Order: sequence, then structure tokens, then C-alpha cells
Amino acid sequence: MDFHVMTLFPEMITAGLHTSILGRAMDAGIISLNAVNIRDYSEDKHRHVDDYPYGGGAGMVMSAEPISKCYEDIVLKRMKRSRPRVIYLTPQGRVFNQEMAKEFAQEEDLIFLCGHYEGVDERVLDEIVTDRVSIGDYVLSGGELASMVMIDAISRMVPGVLTNEESGSTESFEGNLLEYPQYTRPEVWHDRKVPEVLLSGHHAKIEEWRRQQSILRTHQVRPELLEGAELSKKEKKFYRELLEKEQEMIEKNASEEN
Ligand code: SAM
Repeated sequence: MDFHVMTLFPEMITAGLHTSILGRAMDAGIISLNAVNIRDYSEDKHRHVDDYPYGGGAGMVMSAEPISKCYEDIVLKRMKRSRPRVIYLTPQGRVFNQEMAKEFAQEEDLIFLCGHYEGVDERVLDEIVTDRVSIGDYVLSGGELASMVMIDAISRMVPGVLTNEESGSTESFEGNLLEYPQYTRPEVWHDRKVPEVLLSGHHAKIEEWRRQQSILRTHQVRPELLEGAELSKKEKKFYRELLEKEQEMIEKNASEEN
């Protein structure tokens, strides 16, 4: 899979992503990263890529023309298909999640457009962008970090990027559950002992404990996810009992307060 990033800071993208699992996947040719400097497409003698906003107001706006030229160049030089998906990183977009990572991982090419300053001239967005995506409800200074977050998450869903041991199939959000707690050596650390079941060597019991911990953790932190989780009969019973115990505690605390 080929990632193309239109940015004013290509070195930030390359330095940030060519490490660890993604760096290995790039070296193996499973994914590629092409960070392109939008400034190289400015025809202004000072290489300006932004201008004042029509109608006044704070800040500067990225101009349409250098972005459009940069896009055309990427498509002409690199693309196997004529109309690739182009993702504009913006706080005004659909909020990125694991399902979207899996969906984008099906593409052969993805182009990311990183905004800066107050944003980008709407006309070029209307012309080239297919998806507007946010990484969360907060405002960043630029789309670079957001595109890096997305490329990392998408790459993990590309076959061959993760080894068997690193497999994403048991990770958080799989089956709408958060992952169970993990432990490694030593067995006792700061007087805290690894849960006994994990030392038992009993695979079925370990699996049952891990599923229960996932349910518990998801319920505590992201209860809305559990609505879409596929639970076995036994797990549903565990969850029902968990809710009942919680209700009992609430009632007990309320009666103690009165
Ligand atoms: N004026 C814009 C607004 O209020 O919607 C915010 C512009 S922001 C300072 C500059 C750039 O950072 C945006 O064009 C976008 O590319 C990127 N950005 C900021 N927050 C983001 C977020 N939550 N998700 C994705 N990209 C973001």
C-alpha cells in the first residue's frame, strides 16, 4: 500500500513514521511513504503557500493552486488508478476509529492533505478531497500529527505489516471490546503479584479470564462499546452479574448516606 502525504513539513512525516513496525514494513516494501512538500508547487517568487482570508478575520489560509498542482503531480507520477481517495485532516471531519482504519487499509493508494494556519481554501477541498477526517475533538496546529496517527493505525491493518505474534486480532476494539490487562516478568513487582490464573498454564481458564477482564474494562471505561459486542451466553451472564453487583453497591452506598 502506498501512502502519499501533501504537507508543508515532509521531514516531520518521514522522521516520525520510519521507525519500529512501520519502518520495518517500509523496508520490506509492504507499505511505502511519499511525503511531498506543497511549497515546491508554489509559483510565487517567495514560495508563499498561504494568503489572507477573504472577508477578514484572524490567520492565513492555504491557497488552492499549490495544493492542486501537488495533487496532480502525485496522481500523474504515482497512481495506478485515476481517482485515489484523498483524505483531508480536519477537526470538522468524521472522527477516525478502528473500523475506518480497516476500511482505508483496503485501498492501494491513499493521499493525505495536511492543513496548516486557519485551514485550506474550500474550493480545492471540494475539487480533490473524498474524505474529511478528524482524529478527535480538539484543534491541532497542523494535519501532520493527525496523518501520522492515521497512517500508523491503517498500516497495522495491512496484511503482512504485523507479524503473527503482533497480530491485531486480539487488540482493543476487536469485537467492540478493549483489551485485557497485560503482565510480564517479574512475577512480583512492588508487592504486586501477577494474577494467579496467568501462571496456571491452563489455556481455557486464561482465555476466560481475559475475556472477562475485557468486558469489565470496557464496561468501566467505554460502556457504549459493549452494546455492539458479541458475547457468549456465559459472558452475558458474567456481565449481568457485574451490573447487578454494581447496582447493589449503589443502593448500599445510598442507604448508608441516608
Ligand atoms: N480553523 C480550523 C477550524 O477551526 O476548523 C482549524 C485549523 S487547524 C489550526 C490547522 C490544521 O490542523 C487543519 O487544517 C487540519 O489539517 C489540522 N487539524 C487540526 N485539528 C485536527 C484534528 N482534530 N484532526 C485532524 N486534523 C486536524
